[in-house]
Amino acid sequence: MNKLFEKLRGFWEKSIIYRVFIKKYKRYFIIGTLSLIAVDIINIFPPLLIKRVIDILSKEACLTKIAAISGLYIFVSIFQGACRYLWRMNFIGTSFRCDYDLRMAFFGHIETLSQKLFQKYKTGDLMSRATNDIGAVRMGVGPGLLIGLDAMFYFFVIPPIIIYLSPKLSLYTFLLMPLMPFIAYKIKDIIDKRFRDVQEQFSRISEKVQENTSGIRIVKSFNMSRQEERTLSELCKDFMGENLKLAVPQSLLGPAFEYITYTGIIILLFMGGRMVVEGVITLGTLVAFQRYISMMVWPMTAVGWALSLLQRGNASMKRIDDVMNERSEIVVKDSVVQQFIPLGKIEFRDINFRYDSQKEWILKGINLKITAGQRIAIVGPIGSGKSTLINMIPRVIPVGDQSIFIDGVDINTIDIKLLRRHIGFVPQETFLFSERIVDNLLFGAGTADSSNNAQELACMAAIETEIQELPGRYESYLGERGINLSGGQKQRITIARALAINPSIIILDDCLSSVDARVEEVIIKNILSNFKNKTLLVVTHRLPAVKDFDMIVVMKEGMIVERGTHEQLIKVNGLYTSLYTKEVLEERLG
Ligand code: ADP
Ligand code: MG
Repeated sequence: MNKLFEKLRGFWEKSIIYRVFIKKYKRYFIIGTLSLIAVDIINIFPPLLIKRVIDILSKEACLTKIAAISGLYIFVSIFQGACRYLWRMNFIGTSFRCDYDLRMAFFGHIETLSQKLFQKYKTGDLMSRATNDIGAVRMGVGPGLLIGLDAMFYFFVIPPIIIYLSPKLSLYTFLLMPLMPFIAYKIKDIIDKRFRDVQEQFSRISEKVQENTSGIRIVKSFNMSRQEERTLSELCKDFMGENLKLAVPQSLLGPAFEYITYTGIIILLFMGGRMVVEGVITLGTLVAFQRYISMMVWPMTAVGWALSLLQRGNASMKRIDDVMNERSEIVVKDSVVQQFIPLGKIEFRDINFRYDSQKEWILKGINLKITAGQRIAIVGPIGSGKSTLINMIPRVIPVGDQSIFIDGVDINTIDIKLLRRHIGFVPQETFLFSERIVDNLLFGAGTADSSNNAQELACMAAIETEIQELPGRYESYLGERGINLSGGQKQRITIARALAINPSIIILDDCLSSVDARVEEVIIKNILSNFKNKTLLVVTHRLPAVKDFDMIVVMKEGMIVERGTHEQLIKVNGLYTSLYTKEVLEERLG
């Protein structure tokens, strides 16, 4: 017994109704349920009142009694209206609060996940969980719960009343009733399956449309427009077919129910009529009886409906939980350093790293000391591990304890937000939001004490004149609905964005590859003169641009193979020298 109870409790605590709704919004649930019960109780009475009126009328014509009953009922209806409003607000309204909570929690959680998990879940997948699935949970805890409770009430209350009115007549009707849920269940099943087919087909169409619009240039340049149109038209035709198939059971459901209900009522009138004639029941009883039977049609269908809403909600919640249970492998320590304004000394201590324990080592025995305010260039062939190494500084890639120190403090013990707050990081891939240019420029500045304005930042990144030439200048929208910038322009905006937080450490990861060599040099000079005592780390393949840096670190196959100033490295006549001469030659020729 105890075990069963425990099991039920576990089940209850896992259900979305409890987890998402009742646990947090108990008050709304109680008010909603009470007003729902009030509405239903009031609904139960009219047939009994009508019975009274008819029975009074068949004996004597007493209008005062009837007027009193009507008057009372007008008053009660107003009260019922108020209660209806209350249950709507408390159930449906709260379901939108739950929707909001889930969405915020989900989004907040995604933001904490590390890169690795974004390879596991594709963008489209995460998006459908954040929209469709959260929507399904809301339908479960709002309409699903409401309809379920409503149906349950009628189930428990109406049968005793009709049995009380006439046990014999009840027996006749009960024989007929079970057909209804059975038919409803069968048809619902078919509807559910076909509905899924429709949804899947719809996904296919959206995928195709999305691909074709974002890849429109490719489609056109390969002369594939016709072909793509044809495929899309096929998909749409199938979609129409699936919808027509769905329409069949959907249109059958209503008539089937009406048919059963009316047949039932005819049987009822026939049997009941005989009983009235025989004097077993009064006419009022028969009328009331018929009304109650019609009232049972709704809960019969509603139970199935509520169950399927709840079931869909629970299934979707599982998909949301899958993501919510993912933990970032970046460990958050309890004893973190909360106050930290680094000078910019960085030390890498014996770093070995691989992305996958099955695969080869990407970084091998890296030791590097950078004093505060130094300008460091990291160079080397593609795939030598430069990006991997510098991604570790803002903990985009996690490192073990005692591996990287900033101002002598192990970065794993620094609050991650605080750490990133002081690092101006420009990753290798450019990403800008589809917002105004100024929003992009000041993206991180909101959280930092930035005295820079957008224009100054743009000047530093040598993009000011080009922004001034745009029709909307700093207010121009970027991306799908706005203007498209060239790769080099985008790169310069991402640099300006990183500088906006007034960082102590600036890291540029090969982020000027699409900007021409002369402009790259200008930008680096600007940064050097505007951020005099800040540590600067630049990954680049344009060696002449970083020739005057304090130290050049040359990487190859995950190791530091050479380090020193330009002059020192040229003397060594090793990898650096060959990379440098190659680059100078290319620039002259190009
Ligand atoms: P670089 O910036 O010098 O071009 P990277 O640090 O980007 O080099 O890459 C070093 C090596 O690590 C490459 O062999 C690359 O294929 C591998 N690598 C980079 N990122 C990942 C990742 N997310 N998962 C697995 N391997 C990766
Ligand atoms: Mg790289």
